[in-house]
Amino acid sequence: MGMASGAEQGERGWAAWRVSGLRQELQEPDREVFAKAAKAVGAHPAAVKSQRFARRSIDARGRGRDLHFVCQVDLVVPAGPTPPRLRRLIRSGKVLSTPVPESLEVRGQAGRRLVVVGAGPGGLFAALAGALSGAEVTLVERGEAIEHRGRKVVAFHRGGAPDPDNNLLFGDGGAGTYSDGKLYTRVSDPLETAVIDELVRAGAPADIAFDARAHIGTDVLHRMLPRLRARLEDLGVRFQYGVRATGMACRDGADGRRVRALLTDGGELELDALVLCIGHSARDTWDWLAAGGVAMEAKPFQVGVRVEHPQELITRGRYGPDPLAGVLGPASYNLQSRGEVPAHSFCMCPGGRIVASVSEAGGLCTNGMSNSRHSSRWANAALVTTLDPAAVGALGHTGPMAGVGLQRELERRFFDAGGGTYAAPAQRASDFLRGERSSGDLRTSYGFGASPARVDQLLPERVRDAIAGALSRFDRAIPGFAGEDGLLVGIETRSSGPVRLPRDRGSFQAQGFANLFPAGEGAGYAGGIMSAAIDGARAARAAVAGADRSETSPEG
Ligand SMILES: Cc1cc2nc3c(=O)[nH]c(=O)nc-3n(C[C@H](O)[C@H](O)[C@H](O)COP(=O)(O)OP(=O)(O)OC[C@H]3O[C@@H](n4cnc5c(N)ncnc54)[C@H](O)[C@@H]3O)c2cc1C
Repeated sequence: MGMASGAEQGERGWAAWRVSGLRQELQEPDREVFAKAAKAVGAHPAAVKSQRFARRSIDARGRGRDLHFVCQVDLVVPAGPTPPRLRRLIRSGKVLSTPVPESLEVRGQAGRRLVVVGAGPGGLFAALAGALSGAEVTLVERGEAIEHRGRKVVAFHRGGAPDPDNNLLFGDGGAGTYSDGKLYTRVSDPLETAVIDELVRAGAPADIAFDARAHIGTDVLHRMLPRLRARLEDLGVRFQYGVRATGMACRDGADGRRVRALLTDGGELELDALVLCIGHSARDTWDWLAAGGVAMEAKPFQVGVRVEHPQELITRGRYGPDPLAGVLGPASYNLQSRGEVPAHSFCMCPGGRIVASVSEAGGLCTNGMSNSRHSSRWANAALVTTLDPAAVGALGHTGPMAGVGLQRELERRFFDAGGGTYAAPAQRASDFLRGERSSGDLRTSYGFGASPARVDQLLPERVRDAIAGALSRFDRAIPGFAGEDGLLVGIETRSSGPVRLPRDRGSFQAQGFANLFPAGEGAGYAGGIMSAAIDGARAARAAVAGADRSETSPEG
């Protein structure tokens, strides 16, 4: 396993290249861009084994005066000597040698009993890679299948109590199931193509392979999950929904601690290898893992607010008044503030709405989602700063679970300030900067409503300063961003996980264990749908390969 590049590509007979900076006019057919890419690497178009856009983004610099696409194209072509023109393009950075794409399966020991915990992207792709590689896979998920999960999520949003197993974070599909389904977090991994192909096979639009703004949307994600489940069941994967993993039975071996069985509220599952894809909010699960001797450490994570604007303000600010902006759909943004305390926008949902990412009663946490058509009149994004363990320590929380302690404290503070009804404390951006409470009607897409509050005072000082700096800077990029039409609601604490389950260097194994594979966002090795899916698949491949300690992980 691992990346194949350079000479290794030659040995396999294929070379993979990424050609960047290709211009495509708005109406220009794709085949013409592919032809330019093939020419750049000196390949005859007929000899190209595969070609796809790796990225296609709109160049909106100049506010609509010269709108066009800028593309990156990935090609796999027969390996051969590098012509001088290609050598020059490589030197200039226009062409890059990339890893030859890999498939999900690996040659493993057939019939290995693999148990996967969590049916988020990490767990689903772990189960898929394991099953394709010949393992007997059981997938345990505390929440229900999407059809039933959805009903419980709706019941909460209609005023019911939050369900600890079925909410916006837990249940079939994991945390990303109610999201924009953005796939921007490209990781340039040889498994990326295989994961995208599986998503498309399950019903995702084909353009997710290349659109720099690729997104699936909550509605389509919900239609994809039953198809992905059917594919997995055809491969022999057994699903156990509504089953919570509660512990592990272990024994000591010469090569480290070995998990013999997973303990669940539905009984014991004997196993040869355990892959944990428990997500970034698995607080009670981390508790029993720590008690069972699994190493854990605090990691940096993000804290901030959700900022919401009328979509029209964002689209006009990004594309200008050019009528072609109508062709491009609702604009998004991805902004950085490199002030004294840095901050950035994250998980931007054009035409979306703000939702309550709540897994525990009495705590409030916001996030964003949108449907495939981006049809709402609102645009929202997280506006967050990263807190490292030292910053969290300065706020009175220490130890491996310090971040969870701070998350809980802030989530309860905002819940109480919102009046204890899941209404979100809110403040206009202009009032936040002036340090004033907002008056009048605070309109928002957030279903539980906005409750006027001094968000600036509810946030830790460091977070407040970071957001204030970001608002002023972002207002220069998008006029009106920090004005009356910008609304800050909070709190946003679950954009990323606060805990890492460190793996042995160069492997996917939990430290000190011989058959335990923590993966995905809950292990601290992924952030987003794509990276979680890839990490889960890699962990399962390592588990199935049997030579538990010989697999190498890319970050190792
Ligand atoms: C509202 C929202 C919007 C998002 N939008 C995007 C986006 O647009 N693009 C993007 O790339 N990312 C997005 N993300 C992030 C993305 O969803 C996560 O990075 C990704 O889901 C992580 O995958 P995972 O498999 O590691 O964990 P998760 O998806 O969190 O899945 C973990 C699963 O494990 C289960 N579990 C935990 N403990 C146990 C236990 N003890 N027993 C049984 N089951 C257990 C949980 O129920 C859960 O289903 C969003 C997240 C949220 C919350």
